Amino acid sequence: MNEIEERLLELERLGLARRLRTVSGRQGPRVLLDEASVLLLCSNNYLGLADHPKVREAAAEAAMRWGVGAGASRLVSGTMTIHRRLEQRLAAFEGSEACVLFGSGYLANLGVIGALAGPGDTIFSDELNHASIIDGCRASRAEVVVYRHLDADQLERRLHEHEGKGKGRRVIVTDSVFSMDGDVAPLPRIVQLARQHDARVIVDEAHATGALGEGGRGAIAQAGLQGEIDVLIGTLGKALGSYGAYACASEEMVRYLINTARPVIFSTAPSPPSVAGALAALELLEASPQEVARLHDAARALREALAEEGFAVEQSDMHIVPLVVGDSEKAVRLCQATLERGVFAQAIRPPTVADGTSRLRLAVMASHTASDLLQTAKALADATREVGLDPTCIGEPSALGRLATGELRPASKPWLARVA
Ligand code: PMP
Repeated sequence: MNEIEERLLELERLGLARRLRTVSGRQGPRVLLDEASVLLLCSNNYLGLADHPKVREAAAEAAMRWGVGAGASRLVSGTMTIHRRLEQRLAAFEGSEACVLFGSGYLANLGVIGALAGPGDTIFSDELNHASIIDGCRASRAEVVVYRHLDADQLERRLHEHEGKGKGRRVIVTDSVFSMDGDVAPLPRIVQLARQHDARVIVDEAHATGALGEGGRGAIAQAGLQGEIDVLIGTLGKALGSYGAYACASEEMVRYLINTARPVIFSTAPSPPSVAGALAALELLEASPQEVARLHDAARALREALAEEGFAVEQSDMHIVPLVVGDSEKAVRLCQATLERGVFAQAIRPPTVADGTSRLRLAVMASHTASDLLQTAKALADATREVGLDPTCIGEPSALGRLATGELRPASKPWLARVA
């Protein structure tokens, strides 16, 4: 047996081997998964723009007008009018001076972090930052100082501890909305600490663009911090329904990134159809900000329906709902039992999340109807009981934590009291 076979067998033995599941047709609120119709609760296509007729038309037209590939990297011959147009629109949308596109959010994090920190520099990183941030930190070869999730006090202590150590640059990097927990970084404190400690700030708005802030401008805008962040990173592959990513910053910073971010220099420019699709999606978002409100309505409806079924969830607008089960095998069984009831949620296990925090991650779309969301909560509750679990012990980390410490009494949540 060769090493690859051995490793695969080991993954299978640990129950960690996964297979690709195939969706037929377009990405809507309901999809055909391995030929069965299921409600889709694990897509980041939050505003349903990936299959919007105008977005599809724009991508198809771009393929006819500009072709499918850019054929070269941006600094060679890959910069086309459509790239410049989207960059200008994104800069205006984000209230920043300039913007540069990347091939994906993963590449944007790798490129921006690597451009702003290197050997001899220090990066301060939230412990639950996305894998692409973690990989960007590692690839930069800077010293990485991890601070507790959302803990600005600990970040402050870490900044003090590393004051004057070497003469390198200092960077604070964080997701704004965390992809697995759906909570939001303390951005005002982070910006304040960065100013006090002469650090730059990189914020990844992947799950906030199109979902938070006025007109979907993100968590930075919601916190009133537009123009205050050194580099804002956003993706085109989530609420904007396409593929690719961008970094918004000052003119000077963007010129610097174009000349130093390795994925810009050494990777082919994004393809015209995906750029044009994202541009059409951005225009739709700007013309119909009510879609963001619709996403919030759907999030509240799902949370209410889950609470009615006894799950420990917060009543908020947040479109990502983590249902922490704890044990990884149980999370996978719950996911499978939920799928058998026609609801496709994502089971998330270590190493993506910490040991003992395996969960189902639900992601709402603006295009889910009230009845879709009731069906989702019902399927989850039935599946939970089938696998021998109790919905009141499953839920969001914050709600479970507040229940555990007694800060929140079941009686203060009428739906929990009713179930108990
Ligand atoms: N940042 C965050 C917070 C993400 O969740 C993701 C994707 N899951 C990315 C970056 C990577 O973006 P992309 O899919 O465009 O590579």
